[in-house]
Amino acid sequence: MSHHPGALAFLSRELAKIIRPVPPMPFRDWLGSNIVLVDGPKKGEFWSPEDAPYLLEIADCLSIENPCNYVTVRKAQQTGVSILGLSWSLYLADEAPDNILYAVPGIDALQDMNSGKLQPLIDNWQRKTGKRIIDPPTNKTGTGSTTYEKKFAGGSLFLGNTNSKMDMSGKTSRYGVKDEVSKWELLKTGEDPETLFFGRFTAFRRTKSFKIFELSTPEIDTGDELGEEPGHCRVDRSFIRSDQRFWNIRCPECSFEQAQFFQNFKINEAHPHKSTYVCEACGHEITETERVLAVRKGRFVATKSGPDRHPGFHVDAFASLMMSYGDIADDQIKSRSLGEAGEKDFFNLVLALPYAMKGNAPDYQRLMERREDYPRGVIPAEGLIVSAGADVQHNGIFLEVVAFAEDRQTWTVEAEFFPGATDDPGRGAWVLLDAFVSQPLTDAYGQKRKIEALAVDSGDGGRANQVYEWCRRGPDRYAIKGLGGRGVPAIGQASKKSVTRKGKRKRFGSVMVWPVGTWSLKSELYGNMHKPGLAAGEPCDPPGYCHFAMWLGEEYFKQMTAEYFDQRLVRGRMIEEWKPLRRDNHFLDCRIYAMAMAEHLGMSRLRPEQWAALRARLIPSSAPDLFENVVKAIPTSEKSEVGPFNTVKASGRPPRRDKFKRRKAQ
Ligand SMILES: [Zn+2]
Repeated sequence: MSHHPGALAFLSRELAKIIRPVPPMPFRDWLGSNIVLVDGPKKGEFWSPEDAPYLLEIADCLSIENPCNYVTVRKAQQTGVSILGLSWSLYLADEAPDNILYAVPGIDALQDMNSGKLQPLIDNWQRKTGKRIIDPPTNKTGTGSTTYEKKFAGGSLFLGNTNSKMDMSGKTSRYGVKDEVSKWELLKTGEDPETLFFGRFTAFRRTKSFKIFELSTPEIDTGDELGEEPGHCRVDRSFIRSDQRFWNIRCPECSFEQAQFFQNFKINEAHPHKSTYVCEACGHEITETERVLAVRKGRFVATKSGPDRHPGFHVDAFASLMMSYGDIADDQIKSRSLGEAGEKDFFNLVLALPYAMKGNAPDYQRLMERREDYPRGVIPAEGLIVSAGADVQHNGIFLEVVAFAEDRQTWTVEAEFFPGATDDPGRGAWVLLDAFVSQPLTDAYGQKRKIEALAVDSGDGGRANQVYEWCRRGPDRYAIKGLGGRGVPAIGQASKKSVTRKGKRKRFGSVMVWPVGTWSLKSELYGNMHKPGLAAGEPCDPPGYCHFAMWLGEEYFKQMTAEYFDQRLVRGRMIEEWKPLRRDNHFLDCRIYAMAMAEHLGMSRLRPEQWAALRARLIPSSAPDLFENVVKAIPTSEKSEVGPFNTVKASGRPPRRDKFKRRKAQ
């Protein structure tokens, strides 16, 4: 049988036209014919890229036919990127249905997002286009959509709360949206929601047929260049790994193409709306009118290249036509009166940059600069209370000894790391700690003194039993457990804990464990560390002033400033918490526990006459004593209280520092 050689080809081509599925519409085209704005001045109209031209290239990366697996947007507020995330979910449901996980940090934010944005978007979309893609809410048979699961033919759109392990580790998904990813926090179990989230894409990872869209205003900058340190802003970390695209505009004067950065922004303080942007090539001051035209004609320029770099977009207020130079200037001026919280918001929400906290975590270098020349291991004259805190790690024990004055000034008397194993309280680092605490300290008058209370953290690092056992051996050793949260007292009521030995459940004794409220102590310490004193040219060292010695090294100061106090408004409510800036914060913990012990010894409780009695006790009569006249007897009822009245008599033992090899806490 013979046939024309082209006939078969013709036939199959025609057949293919009929059976070949319609290729999915590109996302940018879909947007303009499906998304109806639900608020703002253009409410009811179809979405248009007019005020946000940069959204089109982001949309192209999100489009089905684009092979990339990740798209990151580090964004400011008022940039229209959020609506892109929601719209993308509906586009997928319409054009390439499969399971979609849309993750939002916190149940409140999730509810807001659903009722305030997503549901109205779905309703307007289906009403205006006549499409029936999303199943209506649950009917009597229970097969329809629910609040947190929008069903459609071929899949579901799940709305997940990132604080919920169940939400983050459920069904397999092909598409994902990580909304406000910088606000995702570790779960109570210590697990990272980003890891759990990614686990849901396992099935599609081998074929690389998944797509994840991350979008967020940034949060905290740890100063880590690669952003890998814990506590670093999550969206910034992803952006750093991306090809880092910035929206470039051309100067109307010299045509030089550039991205806009805050340092070239010229704020007109008297007339913020007249603020301009200085072209980095010719110095021309770009006005708002010129900017609008330039931004519309702008384009993204990638600043990094490499095979592993995914598309990452920086979208700040300078690129957004929903913001003007005047708005940016206004926000900047306003933020100044709000202190560091205002500055952080301006960075995060306007400049779309992570913010390195400096106010509440004092700069460690500034602290180092004001070190004083006083000897190690010696209690200063005003040090009336001496306590210590220890932080137990697997490879050793950190210890700080602190002297406190009546006006709450403090001196670091010792800061030490005892290296060695800590799994047996009779060996390793514990022996070094034993040797240390058994030796008296010396005060400014050459008298022997001892640490009146030593707190050892039992709540960290799986060493609770060893801490309990070691603390049972001495009356001035306190097993403590740190508790976060505002309003938790510095030192609370101790509770009895049984001690098990060598992993056996069998009880062989018990120990009192003291809860330490770290919140207020950290606030006090950080407040005090900011206070300028004599070293900064002040006439005196103020109450609470923190004295640090020359022998303390950089690592000590880095650890002391390893946390910051985070404040932000969430749904009109101020959220405040302590967060890590650096991984190692052991000396900070030691100091907090030493402060808790000082509270236990009466720091806030002693009355002036008791302080005077203490002073009389500790300062030898041969030394000039200006306080002689105010010394009064302490009522006997007070004597039963724990107090710093237990000085050690001078002994003939050699100074403790020769007894064991010390590793300098550098
Ligand atoms: Zn120019």
